[in-house]
Amino acid sequence: MRLYNTLTRNIEEFIPIEEGKVKMYTCGPTVYHYAHIGNLRTYIFEDVLEKSLKYLGYVVNRAMNITDVGHMDSDADTGEDKMLKGAKREKKTVLEIAEMYTQAFFEDCDKLNIRKPDNIAKATDMVDEYIEMIKVLEKKGYTYFSNGNVYFDISKLENYTKLTNQKVDDLKVAVRDDIEEDKFKKNPLDFGLWFTKSKFDNQELKWDSPWGVGYPGWHIECSAIANKFLGEYIDIHCGGVDNIFPHHTNEIAQSETYWGHKWVNYWMHSGHLNDQTGKMSKSKGEFLTVELIESKGYNGLDYRFLVLQSHYRKQLVFSYETLDSARAALIKLKTKIQEILEDALTLNVKHENIKEYIDKFKNYIADDLNTANVVTLIFDIIKDENLNSAEKIYLINEMDKVLSLDLLILEEKEVSEEEKNIIEDLISKRNQAKANKDYVLADSIRGKLVDMKIEIKDTREGTMWEKV
Ligand code: AMP
Ligand code: ZN
Repeated sequence: MRLYNTLTRNIEEFIPIEEGKVKMYTCGPTVYHYAHIGNLRTYIFEDVLEKSLKYLGYVVNRAMNITDVGHMDSDADTGEDKMLKGAKREKKTVLEIAEMYTQAFFEDCDKLNIRKPDNIAKATDMVDEYIEMIKVLEKKGYTYFSNGNVYFDISKLENYTKLTNQKVDDLKVAVRDDIEEDKFKKNPLDFGLWFTKSKFDNQELKWDSPWGVGYPGWHIECSAIANKFLGEYIDIHCGGVDNIFPHHTNEIAQSETYWGHKWVNYWMHSGHLNDQTGKMSKSKGEFLTVELIESKGYNGLDYRFLVLQSHYRKQLVFSYETLDSARAALIKLKTKIQEILEDALTLNVKHENIKEYIDKFKNYIADDLNTANVVTLIFDIIKDENLNSAEKIYLINEMDKVLSLDLLILEEKEVSEEEKNIIEDLISKRNQAKANKDYVLADSIRGKLVDMKIEIKDTREGTMWEKV
């Protein structure tokens, strides 16, 4: 398998630490609001990565955090706590907000066929682990205490910026606008490990610690949660591109100082989904959620299909026109598959006929997750006259183990409001004819319904119908 590694800025052969096994960490959601479909693009990418690794024969152990404390408005530790802001907005407690949006996040994942990672931890459940980790960093001399807060001193590191591939001074200039001046930091790029003072006044959740009652920084949570589930060495760590700095840069600083060696071998980042005005936002413009697109008549898998048709590292601009095309293409694809399904049951699959396609499929996913090529391959399979229907269905089913588009699940036939009124009118006329013992008329109405592909069943609760 070849994967693009942000750390080396190259596509590299993937070599796991332990043969056949992959330890994978993915940064989870900050549960102060619904996820937007941009966030969910990143989780689709990670889902495809996990399923591709498994398809290629690896055993994957994956962990993810749920951020319910410590993530500030700005990723660089400044501004208001996102959770607190969400709680104020909805006049609820931080824990109520966290509970509600965690559940909403997993419901969205279900609708997009994103598998839940094996190991998930809430940030607020791991405070003892952060304290232990910070104590070690302190003992090793990489922290300082200033105005009630513990900061990580990045000047102690030789290669703080290895993930961003910039010089420290250039990075400082590049992120100047994002970093609010904190006069208690020695260097504006230093970051908080434990806060007791600044921005803290009305923090709802606080814990005792050797540095005073307070709360952890955002970055320490992923380092500690990864340690708990995956141990000392990790194969792959992922997130969206915005996580490269400061979040993943700071995770590396903490974890490599803590362990005293290189921590993660492959860093993978998905490109952003933007809206037409630029950056996707939860507060400005249309807040694009799964619920919103569903209310407009799309379903989650239309969006998943849209995402899979472009490469995960490319930026993607969302528009309803592209979502319309994705929906139309997916319906067309599923309709073709349904036609094939009908005669696939009686035929046999010959291994020599499908081998070439399976190899191609494996090569595409092993080529830094080229899902767009897999989609094209499925259309080729459908057209291939040398394959019988059973072979086509077998192949599509294999590919859907990674794409997860429910390609073999039959579509419910849609009935328009107008058609529904006609059907119900005919059914009530038929019932009336039966009541009048006019069986000729009743049968002729049934015949009409059959022609419309409507199957009816008389039950104690009345006449039921369905489109077949
Ligand atoms: P958050 O809930 O803000 O911590 O973000 C959750 C995940 O979504 C992280 O991996 C981010 O890198 C990612 N993300 C944030 N915005 C976008 C976007 N517009 N497109 C794709 N991924 C994003
Ligand atoms: Zn993280």
